Amino acid sequence: METNSIWLKDVKETNYKTLKENIDTDILIIGGGMTGISLLYELKDTKKKVVLVERNRIGRGVTSRSTAKINYLQGIMYSKIKKLVGEKEAIDYYHSQKLAIKRIENIIHKENIDCDFERVTSKIYSNKKEIEEEYEFLKEQNAPVTKDKNGIQANDTYVFHPLKYLQSLASIACKTKEIYENTKITEIEVKDGIYLCKGDVTIKAKQVVLACHYPFELFPFFLPVRTYIEKSYIMSNLIAMNKKETFITTGNPVVSKRYYDNQKEVYELILSESHNICVKLNDKKNFENVVGDSKPKYLWSNEDIMTADSLPFIGKIKDQLYLATGYNTWGMTNSVFASILLKDLLNDKENAYASTFDPYRKMNLAKLGQYPVNILSNTLGMVQNKIFKRKRWYPKNIKFFHENGKSLATVTEDGVDYTVTTTCPHMGCTLIYNEIEKTWDCPCHASRFSIDGTWLEGPSKKDITYTED
Ligand SMILES: Cc1cc2nc3c(=O)[nH]c(=O)nc-3n(C[C@H](O)[C@H](O)[C@H](O)COP(=O)(O)OP(=O)(O)OC[C@H]3O[C@@H](n4cnc5c(N)ncnc54)[C@H](O)[C@@H]3O)c2cc1C
Repeated sequence: METNSIWLKDVKETNYKTLKENIDTDILIIGGGMTGISLLYELKDTKKKVVLVERNRIGRGVTSRSTAKINYLQGIMYSKIKKLVGEKEAIDYYHSQKLAIKRIENIIHKENIDCDFERVTSKIYSNKKEIEEEYEFLKEQNAPVTKDKNGIQANDTYVFHPLKYLQSLASIACKTKEIYENTKITEIEVKDGIYLCKGDVTIKAKQVVLACHYPFELFPFFLPVRTYIEKSYIMSNLIAMNKKETFITTGNPVVSKRYYDNQKEVYELILSESHNICVKLNDKKNFENVVGDSKPKYLWSNEDIMTADSLPFIGKIKDQLYLATGYNTWGMTNSVFASILLKDLLNDKENAYASTFDPYRKMNLAKLGQYPVNILSNTLGMVQNKIFKRKRWYPKNIKFFHENGKSLATVTEDGVDYTVTTTCPHMGCTLIYNEIEKTWDCPCHASRFSIDGTWLEGPSKKDITYTED
């Protein structure tokens, strides 16, 4: 069994060069996932100098572990937004998803991208009362959906291979714009209207876009308060039949399924066991719940940012500093929509959707019980993890200890000892060991580190490797 995403098996690792010197640019995009690369592609024909930096290799973040459905049937998303925020916003969200799907389809055809893109039938299975409202809403928007006793169905939805798509887009965009890998930015200062983006090197930029999923910059009363992180588990196996169908349920936890046909073999992907990362910290048990008696060929987990009102955060954070994140597990469409919206904002062009997705939009506290819940569950997760961190469910090959005032752990794997600090450098949460994927995961804000302590994703600016000196 591979404890890694299925998408990594059919693509080669990219090899863009690392930035070794300080440079100036008009626009700097930080992060090379679906958001950053889609935006770079949209900006490929501008006269402005555009640079994208990626801390790792492009596409190896959350995007590489997605189920990558391209779908506007998203559970009971529209009725939820209508209730939490308003009808206009729900309609805007619907149109943003349709716009993004059309854009992906157009790009794939125009650029002749080979990425296993296929039109499929999608279903929402639900017997909840809310499914009636969802159907009514979709019909009011003239969506080509039908309904029966099991739920809603549409035929104008798609699936693809996210990394084949992303890597092709990057190779087109880099003909006119610059991509640097293994290049991180961890500090942003503004001086005389110019951003000084510092990390391995300093990049001076007139405009900056944070496309790094969970931003490393702390904006007071913003992300940790208005969002929580959802973790899900995905298994994949070869199947004989190709039904050309995807589905999602509206139960708790949600089950989501798609197939992947690479022209040689067909796999099914099943996602389940989704939960707020602050609870259900025993990853081994979570994986066991997903797998049951089956023997998957691929098994992995993934985390996405969930916003309190179910709308993404796309837009201006400060003058000439932009952000796109909080996709509520629908980032294939939302990242592409973000690239369309941000292209306009970066060019000072009005966009009718801007206020709906504005990161600093007002959230109605009375309607959004989520606000205090987020703070509480964050705190609870931190405390719970501090108390229970080294109890019964950890494997025998982990030893926890203190040295030089630091909380440390050594994992022994294949005879090699890996010692790391178990405190997340981001905000001090105690990390949990994910025994299946052999990663150290933060149960508060989704930073992840490899067994040797190397940063893999999330807001932490540092690795957690430990040496005595
Ligand atoms: C279980 C699961 C299933 C999902 N399934 C679907 C689905 O079926 N359909 C759908 O539409 N969406 C789905 N999503 C959501 C979607 O995968 C994500 O929302 C989307 O991939 C996020 O893309 P991104 O570019 O914002 O983030 P990422 O892909 O994480 O990209 C961010 C990049 O920024 C880089 N970076 C981070 N910090 C720095 C730094 N300091 N300097 C430089 N670079 C940095 C990272 O290395 C990374 O490559 C799913 C999510 C989950 C959790």
